[in-house]
Order: sequence, then C-alpha cells, then structure tokens
Amino acid sequence: MADLDVSQILRFDGNVPAAPSPSARPGTIAPTLARVNEYAHGGYPELLRAIAHYAGVGPENIVLGAGADDLILLCARAFAGPGDVVAIPEAPTYPLYGTAATLAGAEVGDEAPALTFACRPGNPLGELGPLPDGRPLVVDEAYFEYAGETALPLIGDGVVVLRTFSKAFGLAGARVGYALADPATAAELDRRQAPQAVSSPSAALALAALAEPPDVSAQVAERERLASALRALGLEPAPSHANFVFVPLDEPEALAATLLRSGIVARVLEGGLRISVRDEHDDDLLLEALSRALDRPAPVASRGGRRSRRLRATAETTMRVRLALDGAGRVHVRTGAGLFDHLLEQLAFHAGFDLLLEGTGDLETGVHHTAEDAAIALGEALDAALGDRRGIARYGDGVVPMDDALARAAVDLGGRAWVELALEPAPELADHVLRSLAQAARFAIHVEARGADPHHTAEAAFKAVGRALRAAVAAEGGGVRSTKGLT
Ligand code: PMP
Repeated sequence: MADLDVSQILRFDGNVPAAPSPSARPGTIAPTLARVNEYAHGGYPELLRAIAHYAGVGPENIVLGAGADDLILLCARAFAGPGDVVAIPEAPTYPLYGTAATLAGAEVGDEAPALTFACRPGNPLGELGPLPDGRPLVVDEAYFEYAGETALPLIGDGVVVLRTFSKAFGLAGARVGYALADPATAAELDRRQAPQAVSSPSAALALAALAEPPDVSAQVAERERLASALRALGLEPAPSHANFVFVPLDEPEALAATLLRSGIVARVLEGGLRISVRDEHDDDLLLEALSRALDRPAPVASRGGRRSRRLRATAETTMRVRLALDGAGRVHVRTGAGLFDHLLEQLAFHAGFDLLLEGTGDLETGVHHTAEDAAIALGEALDAALGDRRGIARYGDGVVPMDDALARAAVDLGGRAWVELALEPAPELADHVLRSLAQAARFAIHVEARGADPHHTAEAAFKAVGRALRAAVAAEGGGVRSTKGLT
C-alpha cells in the first residue's frame, strides 16, 4: 500500500456512483452561500414541491432529514421507546436499524413490535423480499431507483417510506434524505425532527439534482455485466436489484486484504464481500485484481498499467480525469466547452489513450475557465501516468492533414515545459489550451498548423499532437533518453 497514491484507491464499499451528478457544482450553491448567515426561514418549500413531484405525492407527505440514516433514527425514536420491541430484518441487514432501536431504549425482537423495519432492496444482498405485515412499518428504499419497486401505495396503511439523495442522485456527502408518510404521520415525525436537519447548501444541491433525475439504466446494465464476469471467475454473486452485488465467500477478510494491496476497497461482511457497481472501467480494474488474487484467468481485457486519476476542483470548475496511456482510444470528454471537448477527444484518441474527462464549469462566463481547466487536468493526469518517465521513447512527432489544413507537431516528454505554437488561422483559445496542457504535463511542444478554415487547422493541430504523444509515450528501453545520462 505504501506506494499507492490516494487518487488510485478505488472504493467499492460505499454503494455510491463513481461521480457526482453534473448539477453538483459551485454555481449551484453560490446563491445559498450569499445568505448562509441566515436560517432557512420557512424551510425548503421548493425542495418539498420538487420531491413531491418526483415521488408522486404531496408536500404534506414529506419529512426531510440529513440522509436516510437520520430518518431511520427519527422513526425509531418516534415510534418506539423503553419497554418496546422493534422488529428488524433478518441478518445480514443494514446495521443502523438495530442501533436506532437501542438508542430509542427499545429491544430488538419479533414479539408484538411497536415498529417494524424493512429494507427494500435489501442491503447487503440486494434482494426484493416480501413486505412484513407488521405496522407501523418503515420501508427503507435507499436503493429504490435501481429497483423501481416501492411501498409508497401503502402510506395510507401505516407505512413510512424512506428515500435518499445519497445513492442514485450521487449526493452522499450532502446528507439529504426524505420520509414519505400519510400527512398526520409526516406532521408527527416533523415535530420530532430537529428544526432544520438539512443545511441550505445541501437543500440547493438536492433541488438542482431533481431538475434532472438520474437515469440508472447504464448502472443496472453494468451491474449485470459485473455479475456475469464474477460468475466467469467462478464466484456466485447473489441476484441484486441495487447498485451492488454480494459475493458469498468462505474467507472474505483474506481476499479483501489482498484486493486492498491493489488499492481496491470492498466491504467485508460475514460470509462474503459486498461490491459496489462503479462503471465499466473501474469494475474491470476490480475484476483484474480479483483474478490476480484468486489466480484465475481474467474475464476481461487488461486496462493497462500506466494509469492515473485526477480530481481538479477550483471555484470556477470541477474536472475529473481518468487516463490510461496504453488504451484503445476509448475516449469521452464532456465538460460543456463545446469545440474544446471535441479537440481534446481527438488528441487523446490519436494518442491511443483511454480517457474519461468529465467536468462542469462556469460556462455563463464563457468557455475560457472550463477549456483551460480541462486541459490542465488532462495535463496533470498525463504527468502522473508517466510517473518517473523512464523507459519511454521521450520524443515523438506527427503530421496530420485535414482537407485544407496541414499540421506538424513534435513533443519532448523529458520533463521541461516549452511551448512554440503557430496555428494560423485558429479559434480563440486553441493556443491557450495546448499551452495549458503542455505546461501541466511538463512537456515541450512545437506545433505549426496552416489552413483556410480555423476549425480544420485546430483539429489537425490537436490530432498531430496526439500522434506525437503516441510516439513519445511508447515504451522503449530502460531510462529517459538523454545523452547526459538518465535525467
Ligand atoms: N439505508 C440503507 C439500506 C443504506 O445502505 C444506507 C447507506 N449505506 C442508508 C440507509 C443511509 O443512507 P444516507 O446516506 O441517506 O444516510
């Protein structure tokens, strides 16, 4: 573990998406920060209305809380007290139900319970079991979006449904959840809830996320792909309706410890490991590490050794980069910077990288910050993936025609940034983006591009830089190539 950079650690233990939703950006909370000295007088009526619309209920049915956890604790203390019994799902289940019962002074058991908890889909198995008959019944639907099944039609019949923004909405750190109940129960729960359990920045993040509710279909498809790859490794993941799979094992601790040495964190539970579904790339790294740990053939192609991740967050932009130098041109750039997303995609594709570059920026001020920070984030990721730069070709060049335009590029990855650019004509910022990339990645770059059309000229230039990088990162011998000896 000692030589693992913290950015290389991949958490498969939290059951949260691999990235926040695009609406989670500084601009979303800026108006609330301007008034953060004030209490949110009158609560969050807009958020209540948006949740009501999303869930198909009225605002009077909703109680807000700091995550579903807060509402589990609220329900336990509202419905049960000393001398009462609280029924919780059979083990293994989410441990907070038992803790909440104990904190309320109640006992856990099945005899005439004052309150019953159900978890649907269940955690850690992901099953959709039958609903218990006991009332009042709290149904924890933290993973509702992945399953699509709900006990909501039963809120007139002693049922309280709990939901959260921590899972499908990607806002676990913001701590926002809600309970859905009949109006009298909701009012009673609200009376026992802390006056303002949700902070105003968190309420703003939840409201913005609801403007575009998540589409979990890709996650669900990825869960099934991961499950079948796990089966190909000889494991037997339990069928799941959530964003994780439970893999039964005799010695989960030993396997988890081995995975941890590759920077992969899985949740150890009695009798198995619970593994969150991230995305295809990350899940492939998990599968590779598992196949090494189990000494079985990998069910997926290797994602290559020279990789890096970067999270670059400033007041203006947030950029998330995942880069593999020995890739297959699987490239996706989405920052909202239009043409520059396209140009960076072209560059990475022609370099032969796998690149995921996602971000959000203050586009209302123009694309300048966003395009610049995307290039810097990619440059920093490239610098990190190159490591000590030993054993690479170091120099590379590329010549790319594009209709009327012709571009020549040469790079030197020796470690000193130097930029000579002559792009004529070129869109505004094209020079600046290449310069930012070269400076952040610490390489020297010479580019000459001429043409009639500015877009063709820029596109040819970015492709030529990609071709040059492809040659320069290629593995070649032992050290950095230099007649001064190893630099
Ligand atoms: N219920 C279940 C079943 C969970 O798995 C979790 C989170 N791991 C929670 C509730 C708590 O979620 P929140 O972040 O909304 O408190």
